[in-house]
Parts: sequence; C-alpha cells; structure tokens
Amino acid sequence: MIAVVGGGIAGLAAAYRLQQQGYEPTVFEASSSVGGLAATYETAGDRIEAFYHHLSATEETIVELAEELGVGDRLEWRWGHDSYYVDGVVHPLNTAWEIAAYPHLSAYDKFRLGMLTLGVDVRGGVPNFDTYDDLEAFEHVPIKEFLLEHTSRGVYEYFFEPLLRAKFGSRKEDVSAAWLLGRIQFRGERDLTKGEKLGYFEGSFGVLLDALVEAVGRENVVTDAPVQDITIGKSVESLRVEQDGTVSEHEVDDVVVTTMPHLLERWTGYECAIDFQGSVCAVVGMDAPVTDTYWLNIADEAPFGALIEHTNFVPPARYGGEHLLYCASYVQSTDDPLWNMSDDEVRDHWLSGIEEMFPDFSREQVEWMKVARNPRTAPIYERGYLEMVVPYDLSVVADGLYYAGMASRAQYPERSLNGGVVAGYEAADQLATARNQSVGPARKSG
Ligand SMILES: Cc1cc2nc3c(=O)[nH]c(=O)nc-3n(C[C@H](O)[C@H](O)[C@H](O)COP(=O)(O)OP(=O)(O)OC[C@H]3O[C@@H](n4cnc5c(N)ncnc54)[C@H](O)[C@@H]3O)c2cc1C
Repeated sequence: MIAVVGGGIAGLAAAYRLQQQGYEPTVFEASSSVGGLAATYETAGDRIEAFYHHLSATEETIVELAEELGVGDRLEWRWGHDSYYVDGVVHPLNTAWEIAAYPHLSAYDKFRLGMLTLGVDVRGGVPNFDTYDDLEAFEHVPIKEFLLEHTSRGVYEYFFEPLLRAKFGSRKEDVSAAWLLGRIQFRGERDLTKGEKLGYFEGSFGVLLDALVEAVGRENVVTDAPVQDITIGKSVESLRVEQDGTVSEHEVDDVVVTTMPHLLERWTGYECAIDFQGSVCAVVGMDAPVTDTYWLNIADEAPFGALIEHTNFVPPARYGGEHLLYCASYVQSTDDPLWNMSDDEVRDHWLSGIEEMFPDFSREQVEWMKVARNPRTAPIYERGYLEMVVPYDLSVVADGLYYAGMASRAQYPERSLNGGVVAGYEAADQLATARNQSVGPARKSG
C-alpha cells in the first residue's frame, strides 16, 4: 500500500499524481473533511475559505491541474485592490497615480522602492540589472540591513517595516533578504492602471479540492483517520491509524507525509529546524461593506495584522448578498494573548478594533462571525531557510518515506496552494521513479 498522510492540497495532489502513474494510494486525513488550511465554510451562497486565499498570476501548476480536472473554467482572474491604512487614512496603492499621491514616501523613496520591485539595483547611481538574480546570495543577509542599503530609510520605515511586523511579528528581523526578493518575483502580474491580477475559483477553492477527491476516488480518501505513528526499519513498515476510537495497523510499502514537520519528527526522528507561526483568522459576514478595498495593510497599531474584504474581490451576490471580511493575525507562539482568547473575546476585540478604525462601521451590521485558528500555518522564512527545507525523498531515514508538507522546497519563498501541488507532485514522482528503479512496474498496484 502507498499511504498519503494528510488530505490537504499537497496530500491530494500527491495521491492524484500517483494515480495518474498507475498506483492506488490511500489518503488518511485526521479531520472530518479534506482541504487542511484551505478548508471552507458554508455561507448563504458559495463556500468561503476559513483562511483567505487567492492565486498569483505566476502560479501555473495549479492552473494546469484545474484544467486537467475539468474545473479550469471555474477559475476567474480579477483585479485585487490593495490599500495601506496609515494615521487613520486608507490610501489606495494600485495605480501609478495612487502611488504618486501616497504622502508617506518622498519621491526619492518611491523611486528606490520602484527600482527594487523592478529588480534594478541603483546603488552608487549606476543601474545594475543582475544584482538580484542569484537569490541564494541573499540567503544570509538580514532583511532590514538589506532594505536600508538597497532602498532608503523611508522605504523601510514607512513601507516595509509595518508589513514585516504584520507578517512575522517579533520575528521580523530574522527574515532573509532572499525571502523578500523571491517574494517580489513571486507576486504576479501588476498593472499600473488596475492593480494586481489574482485568481479565485467560482465557488471557492473547495471546487478544486472536490475535483481532486473525485479524481482520486472518494473510497481512497479516508477522513476522521488521524495517523498516530509510522513504524520504520530500513524501510517504512506500517502506519498506526485511529478510526472510530480504535487504532489499527496498516502495512505500507511507501508513505508520503504531508503534515507539518513536527509530526514527521515525532514519527520518524527526522528533525526540521524551521519555526512556524500560527494564525487566528475570522470571517465576518455583514449586511454592508466596511471598506472599498480588497487587501488592507495596516501601518497603525491595530489588534489584527490585516483586513481582507473578500467581497471587494468576488461580488457579494455570490454569497447571498452578504459582505465578507477577513480579520487576521499571525501569532508567534501559543502564549500570545490573542491565541488564548475565546472566540467571543476575539470577536469583541476585533470588532472594537474595526470600530476604532472606521467610525462608520457598526457591529449592528455584523450577521455572523466565525473564528478559525491553527498553531502552524506559515514558516518563518529566516536566514539560512533553504538549508532547513525537508527533502521530498527521505530514504536517508527509511526507504519508501517521502515528504511533501509545508517545509518542502516548493513552499518557498511563499507557502501556497500551488506550492502544495508542486510538492505533492515532486514527492509522487520521486516515489514512482524509486519504485520503477527497484522492482519495476510489477509493484504498481500500490
Ligand atoms: C491565513 C492563511 C492565508 C493563506 N493564503 C493563501 C493564499 O492566498 N494563496 C495560497 O495559495 N495559499 C495561501 N495559504 C497557504 C495554503 O493554505 C497552504 O500553503 C496549503 O493549504 C498547504 O497545504 P498542505 O496540504 O501542505 O497542508 P495542510 O493544508 O496543512 O494539510 C495538511 C493536512 O494534514 C492533516 N493532518 C495533520 N495531522 C494529521 C495526522 N496525524 N493524520 C492524518 N492527517 C493529518 C491536516 O488535518 C491537514 O488536512 C494561506 C494559508 C493561511 C493559513
């Protein structure tokens, strides 16, 4: 048997890819539904992800997968509008003239920021077009030091620092310049008259997940089945899986683990030094909008890191006319006071924060609010990160052991659904290659 541990996008993509190559993998998922971090809630209309999601125009593998699965026509590309909240004012930052009008950066700061985003190094007054080509050269360069040297103090203090604080909290200065440069390249198509082009499935990413489950075969995706342990010798031997309160042992020939790496370590001893941060994220269903922007970064002190008004991206008509707003914050540890608040306390804390920022907002307009949390949702892309990624092929630990979870190479410089698909494919391909090399197609039955 080939077992895939975890039914998020990476596990389902790995199972799909294996099946395309003639194997019959079984996916074991701990929770009652698939999707992992991309799982959805029901609304009065289409489903909505518990954690905000969209695709960047540079992400291709997931688009090809959607086409293959017959749901490519459900993928829509829309303009996502970004704004920055500074000193109580929302500044749209999409078009050239909006950026020109932004008062918190000087013309010189804007020039230095613009050159960095175009990948041009203008230090010393002579433009250099290939300084940033070799990202690995920046792996050990601290992000703050890099930004102060390659842009200006104004760009760091009034543009990047609040964004880094929202994204990495107290770990913001641990991040590498390579991450930032990779992230700039990763951000897809930006039109200086319209904003950034972003992808979203009509009906949510659940459409893609459903199509994957269908392709893999519902009978091959076992939910409510947390894996408890993996027995390994020279090769992987068996999985202990809990189902309906009893634990059973399943003999395995190969295992693809797609969970966070602390479970891989618990089960197999493989150590991964990557630190992860958690997320607290609420979806607020309302009868009126709060802003007219999709993505609102916040420079001022606020009880959340960002406000993402989904229905300024996808029309409210898709959700029975309701307006949907994400309120979200990363937490660096489970000691964080936010992490320890009850859902009702989070609701009160965050709605008070929105009221303070937007005097026209009233909690009367809130119809429902759901809070999701997960202690491990995003890696801290600290210096030397690439040396810490977990390889797809873990035969150094045991033959037949593979990894495609968030600590994979494909989830750098930003973890994403596309990265999950690529990681799942990579692990599946390496597994298939190893099988073909060792025993030939006779073992193909999975
Ligand atoms: C706040 C937030 C915003 C995001 N925004 C975007 C975005 O805009 N665009 C984008 O592309 N990506 C985004 N992502 C990232 C994206 O959600 C992830 O990269 C992707 O879902 C990871 O998929 P995965 O399969 O690797 O992991 P997961 O989704 O975590 O799946 C792992 C699965 O393993 C299961 N599991 C855990 N333990 C066990 C066990 N013992 N036995 C069996 N199963 C187990 C879990 O239940 C889970 O289903 C965002 C994530 C978050 C949290």
